[in-house]
Amino acid sequence: MKRVHNFSAGPAVLPLSVLERAQNELVNYHDKGSSIIEMSHRGPEYTAVHEQATARLKQITGADEDWDVMFLQGGASMQFLQVPYNFLNEDRKAVYIDTGSWSSKAMKEAKMFGRVDVPFSGKDENYTRLPEDGELDLTGSGDAQYVHFTSNNTIFGTQFATEPDADTPLVCDASSDFLSRPLDLSRYGLIYAGAQKNLGPSGVTVVMIRKSFLDEQRPEAIPTILNYKTHVGKLFHTPSVFAVYMVNYVLEWILDSGGLSHFETVNEQKAARLYEELDRDDFYRGTVDKGSRSRMNVTFRIHDAELEPAFLKEAAGRDLVALKGHRSVGGIRASIYNACPEESVEALIAFMKDFRAANG
Ligand code: PMP
Repeated sequence: MKRVHNFSAGPAVLPLSVLERAQNELVNYHDKGSSIIEMSHRGPEYTAVHEQATARLKQITGADEDWDVMFLQGGASMQFLQVPYNFLNEDRKAVYIDTGSWSSKAMKEAKMFGRVDVPFSGKDENYTRLPEDGELDLTGSGDAQYVHFTSNNTIFGTQFATEPDADTPLVCDASSDFLSRPLDLSRYGLIYAGAQKNLGPSGVTVVMIRKSFLDEQRPEAIPTILNYKTHVGKLFHTPSVFAVYMVNYVLEWILDSGGLSHFETVNEQKAARLYEELDRDDFYRGTVDKGSRSRMNVTFRIHDAELEPAFLKEAAGRDLVALKGHRSVGGIRASIYNACPEESVEALIAFMKDFRAANG
């Protein structure tokens, strides 16, 4: 069986054990004579999957009964809209930290509903860095409904080292680093993440919401399917059955591997190994400030950009795939989420050394 070293930014590599399990039980789930995706989403089989996924997510993140978990559709992009639809109106404001394309897409939707303050934007510096200590003053955020930030900027390759210090609840787009390290839930009102990077296949978005935060919904009507209250504690409509089923197994794999502190250690090591290779000399060049570097998406250029197509082609020849940078920024990007094995990172480093030796 051939498996490549997959550095895709998303949909991304999944644990092989999870894929094999799904493969084994796809045609005949638990001896029921049909697959999980051919059964009612209200039947006992899927209900058990859904409840188990919810419980595992709470266990992994340490969420207590103050938190609700939803498995929604429409991607993280839907959350750009759903968050302000639930919490903003003409009399309310929110704070958005603009650290990349996804942050600005979230801001664009929020502006349709209420006032948006932007205390930091990295746009003029092409999003190559995050705010430094002391640069982001959120002390005046008390009259805002929430402070929105993107914990990891998938395209540019920057990542917040810790949660921003705000005196209002945080709302986080954690699509590309959710469950890659422990998080301080006490700071958050809502966290959302499209599954297709660290959690499973595309088609489902995990939304965790704090009950007291949900109580602060705007008073105006909210369309039924977009109202978070429609989804809390019940299935409003048919969920993305296969995606949630896969997420449930990925969550089990996270727990069996040692949980978030395990992944924090491994992810830190994988990223450190890659950055060490980038920083060895001037042949490769990281594209963002060292203090803002992501442990999930390692973005870099080659000193002579004309070598980049050859780098990508030769890498693919060694089964190192999906290394092309996002179409909006170019260059090279290695996405090394939880399920990207250390061997893949080592294989990439070995190739980078060979490519430097041949072209340096
Ligand atoms: N936010 C971030 C940080 C992302 O990386 C992405 C997708 N790459 C999105 C939002 C958009 O997600 P979706 O395609 O699930 O709408």
